[in-house]
Amino acid sequence: MLHDSVTLYPHFFPEEKCGIFGVYGKGMEAARLVHSGLWALQHRGQESSGIASSEGLGIRVYKNEGLVSRVYDEEHLALLSGYCSIGHNRYATSGGSGKLHAQPVFSTHGQIALAHNGNLPSTTKLESFLDEKKIKYTGMNDSEMIHAAIEYQLQQGDSVTSAVKTLFPLFTGVFCLLLMTKDSMIAIRDAKGIRPLSLGKLNGGYIVSSETCALDTVGATFIRDIEPGEMLVINDKGLKSYALATGKEKEEKLDIFEFVYFARSDSKLLGKRVDTVRKNFGKQLAKECKIVADVVIPVPDSAISAALGFSQASGIPFDHGLIKNRYIHRTFIQPAQRLREKAVVMKLNPITEIIEGKRVIIIDDSIVRGTTSKKLVERIRAAGAKEVHLLISSPPVLYPDFYGIDTPKQKDLVAFKMTLGEMTKYIGADSLTFLSYEGLIAATELPEERFSTSCFTGIYPSDIGKRALEIQMK
Ligand code: AMP
Repeated sequence: MLHDSVTLYPHFFPEEKCGIFGVYGKGMEAARLVHSGLWALQHRGQESSGIASSEGLGIRVYKNEGLVSRVYDEEHLALLSGYCSIGHNRYATSGGSGKLHAQPVFSTHGQIALAHNGNLPSTTKLESFLDEKKIKYTGMNDSEMIHAAIEYQLQQGDSVTSAVKTLFPLFTGVFCLLLMTKDSMIAIRDAKGIRPLSLGKLNGGYIVSSETCALDTVGATFIRDIEPGEMLVINDKGLKSYALATGKEKEEKLDIFEFVYFARSDSKLLGKRVDTVRKNFGKQLAKECKIVADVVIPVPDSAISAALGFSQASGIPFDHGLIKNRYIHRTFIQPAQRLREKAVVMKLNPITEIIEGKRVIIIDDSIVRGTTSKKLVERIRAAGAKEVHLLISSPPVLYPDFYGIDTPKQKDLVAFKMTLGEMTKYIGADSLTFLSYEGLIAATELPEERFSTSCFTGIYPSDIGKRALEIQMK
């Protein structure tokens, strides 16, 4: 008997950063591998997690609120049997409660389960389609609308391949999708490839993952990145690739923020190890900023590589002056400023002996609202630092994200509201230096054209529709 163990409730929150992972391999315990893959992709989403699986007869889904370590136990994994499985970790937003928004999207009488990483800033075309077909979508989010549209086509007798081909032009925005039917897995990447998606192989089977670090975790070999605008269909006939976008439509624009913050340092994006690129950000920062100091301290974990690069290039010693409590996750998305500040204090604690009486450089990967930096500078000073210089391994975040990150509205971005001098004063540092935009691009050792740089430049390669009205030009 098939079951959908969690009822889907309508909601209004867009899908966010998220991690997706899928396995197709005859004879494999696919869901157990997906479970390991999701564990490795935990950094991409901590709000909820879900796995769908099938042994060829029908789809089972289990999903719930919380971290991978808490969501599943042996009983669930034993029930999720079969050789085909997809999974999803959902990134938290400032509002929604996890259980209601958990994926994979699945309906009890449906034929597909769907996991989505990304966001469709405009759903006008999808809505028109659903209106035309008299499908009610009130309260559905973008992922659920995509799911409903594909299910409709399947009910009309379409194959999944043909349904996706027909509907692809209606998916206006950013998406890496993993779909599964009872006996196949389908991976689709939007025409701009804004979020990452890689293909690997393991014992004759195929693995699809948001990041390569999770391929390593399950012992899979990296084959290649899935192309922008590509659909891969994997079933008992093997793997087949379809180009859904061609010519000018297809243009790789990986979100550069994946290198700055999101991705794990041990992943590879566009063929580059994230750790190497982050070290390059630090080295470049050392070229651009000649501050004399006694110690370089990273804000863990995301700024460790950049701080190491900075230390290597500048000769200023690196030390772990801030220790992170690895069991606290939601600082960035706490709804109120006071809670965010409290969360920073709970998450990061300075080591006085490393800081006292020293001229300290702190390196962080980015400043969004300014909460983390302000609180940290305060704490580093309280720990006895003689000087506190804050260096950021990316340029100022000036524009909101509409592609699947939970950045706040533009009016809440501190770099949009304030000049550099005002920000330095607000944060309370002796100096504040951002990596230049040119330096950021140079450090990737890749051409600028390969990236979406929207949060720094306001150039949005994938149409953001009416959301453009949310951007106040300076
Ligand atoms: P804020 O405290 O609002 O200035 O946010 C900056 C801090 O949050 C930095 O330490 C970053 O490492 C981290 N950060 C940046 N972008 C994100 C994001 N989209 N989600 C969660 N944390 C983030």
